[in-house]
Amino acid sequence: MITIDGSQGEGGGQILRSALALSMTTSRPFRIFNIRAGRPKPGLMRQHLTCVQAAAAVCGGLAHGASVGSQDVEFHPGTIKPGEYHFSIGSAGGTMLVLQAVLPALLRAGGSSRVVIEGGTHNKAAPPFEFVSRVLAPLIERAGAGVNARLERHGFYPVGGGRVVVEVQPASDPRPVVLTERGERLGSRATSLVSKISREVGEREVKVLASRLSLNDDEIEIRTVNDAPGAGNAALVELHYEHITELFSSIGELGRPAESVARSAADEARAYIASRMPVGPYLADQLMAPLSVLAGGRYATGPLTNHSRTNMEVLRLFGAEVRACEDGCVEVEPVG
Ligand code: ATP
Repeated sequence: MITIDGSQGEGGGQILRSALALSMTTSRPFRIFNIRAGRPKPGLMRQHLTCVQAAAAVCGGLAHGASVGSQDVEFHPGTIKPGEYHFSIGSAGGTMLVLQAVLPALLRAGGSSRVVIEGGTHNKAAPPFEFVSRVLAPLIERAGAGVNARLERHGFYPVGGGRVVVEVQPASDPRPVVLTERGERLGSRATSLVSKISREVGEREVKVLASRLSLNDDEIEIRTVNDAPGAGNAALVELHYEHITELFSSIGELGRPAESVARSAADEARAYIASRMPVGPYLADQLMAPLSVLAGGRYATGPLTNHSRTNMEVLRLFGAEVRACEDGCVEVEPVG
């Protein structure tokens, strides 16, 4: 039984999600205590509880102590089963974070799966849907597996109500993913999503995005979203390079000026452009688990974030070899 202190490092929900992912793929049970001790409202929130339930469903595992607010959970994995799954978070909790918990296991399943997840698709401090569909999924495909993510309904904080469908095809012959250069810039796209709020918010956002990122009119777009149950807004910046696509985003909220929302997405994109690294700070932590259950890989990224360092520690508890090399690359060996 592996014991994990959930207050270590970043002290957030990712420790739990990575533990679930690796527990399923290595068949090792774990107990986690001090769950999300580093957060203002510690313990499991609905999103994290759904992660535990989803993991138990995918591998026929057993979870003890899993309820909203719990800070102590024990998880005993079973055998990963491919198939049809439906997980509903029941709040605006991030659907892409629930996917983070179960995707590595499904990439190791004995067949293809189709997963429907309902909740938030564009949340603060979480990957927006487009990050998974345009950035993460193509890299997993490069490793020989298939991930096809479709957004059926947008869900913005605080109402949520979004719906995504993700089809996962394990790799029959996985290949290592090597991403040490990003190559030439091929294009950029900045989008403002506006749901049930004035289009003027979108106009103000794309104006800031265009000026801070030197984009022309063909590279900006205001998209009116009609399918979300609630009001919401997101600014997205997609950067295409020869060897990678990266995406930076910022989520609108009541009382926050559109200019500030756009500025934070633009500033993250500018920092990435200036870094010359292929893998940005969010992708750096999110690539570790999928690569470790496929054929591993190596990627260049900027200084490691607290999320990345903590994630590395958690993966290592399950025997994964993930290390930061002196040349600034992260190296991931296949686990199990
Ligand atoms: P908590 O509520 O405990 O903070 P959490 O479950 O929301 O936890 P974290 O542990 O903070 O999760 O992990 C957040 C995850 O979301 C990380 O993998 C991080 O890389 C990712 N993430 C956060 N912001 C973005 C973003 N703008 N784009 C892509 N990914 C993001």
